[in-house]
Amino acid sequence: MKDRLRVGLAGFGLLGLLACNPGARPRPAASTPQPAPATSPEDQVHQAPRSADEHAALLARAGELARALIIVDGHIDVPFRLEKTRAPGGAITEDVTRATEGGDFDLPRARAGGLNAPFMSIYVPSSYEERGGATEFADRLIDSVESIIARAPDALALARTPAEVREHFQAGKLSLALGMENGAPLAGDLAKLAHFHARGVRYITLTHSRDNHISDSSFDDARTHGGLSEFGRQVVAEMNRLGVIIDVSHVSDEAFWQVLELSRAPVLASHSSCRRFTPGWQRNMSDEMIRALAKAGGVIMINFGSSFISDEYRRRREAEQALLEAEGLDDDSAAGRARLEAWRAERPPVDFASVGQVADHVEHVIALVGVDHVGLGSDFDGLGDSLPTGLKDVSMYPNLLAELLARGHDDDELAKIAGENALRVWDAVLERAAG
Ligand SMILES: [Zn+2]
Repeated sequence: MKDRLRVGLAGFGLLGLLACNPGARPRPAASTPQPAPATSPEDQVHQAPRSADEHAALLARAGELARALIIVDGHIDVPFRLEKTRAPGGAITEDVTRATEGGDFDLPRARAGGLNAPFMSIYVPSSYEERGGATEFADRLIDSVESIIARAPDALALARTPAEVREHFQAGKLSLALGMENGAPLAGDLAKLAHFHARGVRYITLTHSRDNHISDSSFDDARTHGGLSEFGRQVVAEMNRLGVIIDVSHVSDEAFWQVLELSRAPVLASHSSCRRFTPGWQRNMSDEMIRALAKAGGVIMINFGSSFISDEYRRRREAEQALLEAEGLDDDSAAGRARLEAWRAERPPVDFASVGQVADHVEHVIALVGVDHVGLGSDFDGLGDSLPTGLKDVSMYPNLLAELLARGHDDDELAKIAGENALRVWDAVLERAAG
């Protein structure tokens, strides 16, 4: 998995491809999309109570809403997924414009779930910062997105502005927007920022799992710059000038506060959840940070990953990774998997997060700062086998909408959460851009 935990970061040089494997998992997931969550004992804690009939009616209503509202997802890792399955000669082997066996995203499932505007992650592994080639790799991923659109130009279109998202929505097309995860491809050159902006990149996550030449990372103890580097400060100003959204997911707390101080425009956290539920884990945002983000007009887009949502799940996963690391094993090997199986057999199972727990994060943001500052940033195709029961892929947004309906949120609130808040930030960033 790409959005890996803090523990288990040995072997950084290989982080790129190895980190994207699903990795250890407390429990196997069903291989096919699942219906709305059943009322297991755990769900009863987190899910608003309802009868089977009430649940069916809510789901039907949520399905209608999913079609009527614009759903924006802050972070989906399709381009890197296609990278991992390229043929030896380099050709892309998966066609996500048709139903695919694996993965969390394809066009038919996106339509079923009512998804309208996913940000396709132009994810560049941290290892590229030192080994070079980050710029070329990012261009290659953007080429991939263009090739997806070229396969189905009647159904898909690149979105460069919120206005284009709305136009495509009216025309029945799904918008693909570009968000770059890791500023490494800028390679110390602001002209490259202009290059990627011209290609359609509309947000940049300043760094990923390690400090880079722009910003410190939440996962890296080195704290190289104490936040942003000198160049990072220039990048923030130039992103403001060009109208590129600053994404504060993955950055260290120091970098987050410096970005808020420097940026003239609101910012997004494209795929982060609430630290309140995962105490001490910097990859999620603290209440204080969420308040400051909101005060500056920004939006936190909730990451669906069970490790982001459930502290119990995250701690179990960290323990598993620590075990493998201590014994020199990894979860890609038969020996590593066997060791994990034996270890798990001695312990009570830990469930994936539930839809209700994801809704808890959404509601926590609402309770802190109101409904105008929360959105959805699933991290689909970037998390491996750690997604919540009932939110396994892009067909399942209605399950979350149904849960929020059950908790009394109205259509206007759901519209904001589903996409309008994120589009508002995007518009505000464009308005504040120069020329
Ligand atoms: Zn990420």
